[in-house]
Amino acid sequence: MASNRTIVLYPSPGMGHLVSMVELGKFTLNHHPGLAVTILVVNPPYNTAASTAAYMNRISATTPSITFHHLPSPPLDPDSYPSIEALHFELLRLSNPHVHQALHSISLTAGISAFIIDFFCTCALSVATNLGIPTYYFFTSGANCLALLLYLRTLHQSTNKSYKDLGELLHVPDLPPIPPRDMPVPLLERTSPEYAFFLDAATQLANSSGILVNTFESLEPNILKSIADGKYVPDGPTPPVFSLGPLIASDNGKGGGAAGETGGGVHECLKWLDMQPSQSVVFLCFGSLGRFPAEQLKEIAIGLERSEQKFLWVVRSPPSEDKTSRFQTPPAPGLDLLLPHGFLDRTKDRGFMVSSWAPQVDVLNHGSVGGFVTHCGWNSVLEAVRAGVPMVGWPLYAEQKLNKLFLVEEMKLALPMDESTEGGFVKAAEIEKRVRGLMDSEEAKVIRQRAQAKKEEAKQAMADGGSSTVALAKLVESWRKLE
Ligand code: UDP
Repeated sequence: MASNRTIVLYPSPGMGHLVSMVELGKFTLNHHPGLAVTILVVNPPYNTAASTAAYMNRISATTPSITFHHLPSPPLDPDSYPSIEALHFELLRLSNPHVHQALHSISLTAGISAFIIDFFCTCALSVATNLGIPTYYFFTSGANCLALLLYLRTLHQSTNKSYKDLGELLHVPDLPPIPPRDMPVPLLERTSPEYAFFLDAATQLANSSGILVNTFESLEPNILKSIADGKYVPDGPTPPVFSLGPLIASDNGKGGGAAGETGGGVHECLKWLDMQPSQSVVFLCFGSLGRFPAEQLKEIAIGLERSEQKFLWVVRSPPSEDKTSRFQTPPAPGLDLLLPHGFLDRTKDRGFMVSSWAPQVDVLNHGSVGGFVTHCGWNSVLEAVRAGVPMVGWPLYAEQKLNKLFLVEEMKLALPMDESTEGGFVKAAEIEKRVRGLMDSEEAKVIRQRAQAKKEEAKQAMADGGSSTVALAKLVESWRKLE
């Protein structure tokens, strides 16, 4: 391929989306070094627990063939939007003219082989199509979730009710029956702008040049076959789907920058793990946005204490009750005040707590970690799969309830946390039971063995000749034909 060809990637705001797009860029460059990669960056008008700026600096220093193209930030007041999704839709919509400008100026110096967008960046699809650039989706969740979204129009036509009010289970071909309340949060209210956005984006997804999914063949084989068989787009062709994963962060433990890291050295929690026996520690971490109310934090602490297991817990301050600062990161928590009286002292020999941010990939791959209590964000799931660590699924937001359902029922790589009570409050007794079960039960042994097998399969998928590398070669070849 000519050296002046580039692909342009367009992630939506948020660390999880950015990291997997960057990994997609790296994966492409490793196998097809003749291409360049440009990533369009929209900076959200709020801070998150991780510094994306420091992360991008690290990538620029280590992978110069990846260029970050920062789009001007539209003037937005985050507090005037009802949800983070609504804020992102508006941010991305207002960024469209800048996307147009960026694609135009890039195309003056390099041929754009493909424009690859995140699901949330759907509004940019028409911009690229008008410029004659083939546009693909990079789907940052799994194939099960992709199947559901491709089928969304059909589900929409099957009822007039909001999913939050629907009594019966939802039936999607070849997926386990879905409790309507497990649908992604923005889809629960049929009359909301978020619902309308999802329905439109799901339609566009089916009309794109192709869909790249962050998964691998042997993790979700049946559903990938059903998608390819066209079961979810009954009224037209299904675009080609390329399983290119697991694309996971490869450097989130070093270099400093993210809150909680120790200025470029080895993180204290990894030093603590070095001193623990093999597979003895349960790791609790809830993504880049996960926060619990103070009452729930106390309950987790009580459950962990009673479980008698060793633990490494990423603790964040409760969400702010002040509506005007919802999108700002609260200060690091004062653990003494947040956790039950005497907890820190009583658990000091078997527990380690990290404020806000831990080097998750390094933690999961540490030999002392034997289980992971996760919010089921798809990156976290893939990172655990790649590390061979069994999980307990405790979903909090976005499409995480679906991921939990698929993890528990389909892939059988996780035990469920029962978070089905009103408000999602989980009692200490349930936490104790699940943590104990994860670290020390016959059921978990079977899950652990399966997780270990998937770890090897994930590695093979990304190796030369592996299913994800072969899929990437097919994709790049299809671009070459279009040149
Ligand atoms: N992460 C991390 N340390 C933390 C919290 C999160 O390294 O303390 C990383 C995690 O490894 C993953 C990403 O942040 O790569 C979170 O993505 P995910 O899809 O799991 O969840 P999201 O944050 O998008 O809800």
